[in-house]
Formats: sequence, C-alpha cells, structure tokens
Amino acid sequence: MRDDVVGQDSSIISHPTVWKASGHVDHFTDPMVDCKKCKGRWRADQMDSKECPHGGSHELTEPQKFNLMFRTFVGAVEDAASVAYLRPETCQPMFVNFKQIQLVSRQKVPFGIAQIGKAFRNEVNPRNFIFRSREFEQMEMEFFVKPGDAKKWFDFWVQQRFDWYKGLGIRPDKLRLRPHGKDELAHYASMAVDVEYEFPFGWQELEGIAHRGAFDLTQHQQFSGKDLSYFDDAAKEHFVPEVIEPSAGVDRTLLMLLVDAYDVEQIVDEESKKSEERVIMHLSPIVAPIQVGVFPLSKKLGEPAQKLEKALRSEFRTFYDESGAIGRRYRRQDEVGTPFCITVDFQTETDRAVTIRDRDTMSQDRVALDQVSRVLKEKMAAWQRLPNKGTGLAA
Ligand SMILES: [Zn+2]
Repeated sequence: MRDDVVGQDSSIISHPTVWKASGHVDHFTDPMVDCKKCKGRWRADQMDSKECPHGGSHELTEPQKFNLMFRTFVGAVEDAASVAYLRPETCQPMFVNFKQIQLVSRQKVPFGIAQIGKAFRNEVNPRNFIFRSREFEQMEMEFFVKPGDAKKWFDFWVQQRFDWYKGLGIRPDKLRLRPHGKDELAHYASMAVDVEYEFPFGWQELEGIAHRGAFDLTQHQQFSGKDLSYFDDAAKEHFVPEVIEPSAGVDRTLLMLLVDAYDVEQIVDEESKKSEERVIMHLSPIVAPIQVGVFPLSKKLGEPAQKLEKALRSEFRTFYDESGAIGRRYRRQDEVGTPFCITVDFQTETDRAVTIRDRDTMSQDRVALDQVSRVLKEKMAAWQRLPNKGTGLAA
C-alpha cells in the first residue's frame, strides 16, 4: 500500500554465480556429524539423543559442512558446468534486479522492492509442523537507502513489522522483539532484530529485520561486472545504497495464527441447552478464511438465505450451509474460526431482518437485511481478541 515499495516475482532457478556472489555456495552450510556405527546424521547443534541404536553412545565424526541449497542441472548434460540452485531465499533476485526495477519504476532512493514466493532449503531436520520445512514461503523486502540514513529506516521498519503482527489479532504478550547480540549477527549485517512468537515449543523467530549495509549490491557488482550504484540527482553524487531487509516466513505466520487462535472451552449449546465442549478458533476477521457463514434455519428458507449469501460474496469471504441442526452448523464455523454467522428464519420474510451471531461471545443481534453489510463491517472493525477461556494450545 506504499508509494515507495514495488513488487517483483523472480525466477526460482537462477544463475549459479548469483549464489556465489551472495556467499551461499561457500557459506550456506550447517555443520553435520555422522555416527560411524549407526550411520545416523544430525546437525551438530541438534543432536536429539546420545544413545546409539547399535548400543552405547554414538561414535561421531568431526563436523562436516553440508550445503543447504537444493541443486539441479540446467540443460541436457549433468556436469559441474550445468549445476544450478533453487533459490534458498527470495532476496537475492531483488538485488540482482535492483537497477532495472529502479529505472523502470522511476523510484528514487529511499525505496523498496518486495517479493512473496517459494524458497527451498535442504533442511536435515524439518520439524515443528510447518515451522521448519524444506519448501517454504517467504515475504521479503529490500529497502534501499542512502548510507547514513540506514539506522533511521532500520528503526522504522522494525516498528512497522512488529505492528503488522499485532494487527493480525495475536495476543500481544505472545509477541516480542529480540535484538541480535554481536555474536549472532550474520557477517554482512551490522544490526538485526527478530520478531518472535511464543509457540508451545518456545519463543521462535517469525521474521528478521536486518541492516545489511551495501554488502549485497557490492558483491553482485563485483561478480557481474555491472555498475549497481545509484545516482542521486539532487546531490549530484553516485553511491551504492545500503539495505534494510525485513524477511518473514509465511508458513510460520500461519502456524502462529493457528496456535494463537486455538481454544477448547465449556459452553451451554444454544439449541439443546446442554453443557458441551466447544472448539473455537479466535481468528481475527482480517485473517479468518471464512468471515461470514449464512444459514437458513430450515431448508425451506434456502432461497432467501442463498440470495443473501450471494449478495455478501463480493464484500466478504462467505460460506453457505443448510444441512444439520443450527447448533451443529454454528459449531462447525467456530472450529474454522468464522467470526460471524447469519441466520435467516421464519420471521425474516415479515420483519425483513436476520440474526447475526458472534463467534466469541455467542450473542445474537437482530439486524435489518439492508443494514447487514454495514453492521458486519462495523463489527469486524471493532473486533478484539478475547482471552482464551479453555485449554488452548497456547493458553
Ligand atoms: Zn549411532
């Protein structure tokens, strides 16, 4: 939504020299150890068990470097000259294309290039559901600034990105910013802050915001032999811009949304008046896959209910369901996190109104048919995360 950020969608397979220049060919490695007895292989820092299935403890080799990039061959000949890599991150193509995009989009520094897309890493130990996987989705932005302005923009983007997560309706006490210590910083970064969420398996990184200096553009300039400096018209000077990079994991964000929203509570069923267990996803209306469920109280009311659902479809993510007891239908929508359900009943034809039921409080409001869209928008804008009442994963 910003004037100073443009998008791109780059290729997944890029020239191997790109990954040579970025340092990935030589340095994107994990230290691995092998057991000489059981032939098991682990990341040196992620040994799960000291017990060898062949008896006693493992007999480990010295750590060996294992490159995390997926390799493939381009063309018909599989030799060293035709090796190529699946991108292990989306950011390098933004550096490589920096000058083309800057010229074509007529942007002036400071400005950013952003990309969402797949990245691939041959993780030895994928774990924690979709938290760490070999094929994953990244959202990255390279924000190019004048040297000297970097600290200001770094602070700006750290705050922006932290606010973005809070805006997804996550409980604020489960989110934190964690600045990297000097010993943790990547060799190219002079400052870095992680946005972290407290998963059931501990505090983990969702996104890193790094001040990468002019490292990447300088490297690509050197390996490609092309000038990647920027000419500042006002100051009449050339410089290689410095970069602030927010780098976020989409899958991790999704896992966070699921974990944070999940709750199991005891309620009295609206219809049967019996006490029962309710699985509920407290998803914000911003991210709920279904925002509005529309039900006829009875199948006989299917026609007006479907008409209403179709009318709302262009404004909201909707779902129509006419089968089963109304209480069951509410419960199914609670489980997928639908914040509002509308019921068309036998009064609707006479009073031209329907009920809107709130997922979190289970309260119901009678709303005139011609006001439904406006009321839904107001309710969504006013939505606030309530505390978990039951035994949610992240309670
Ligand atoms: Zn072993």
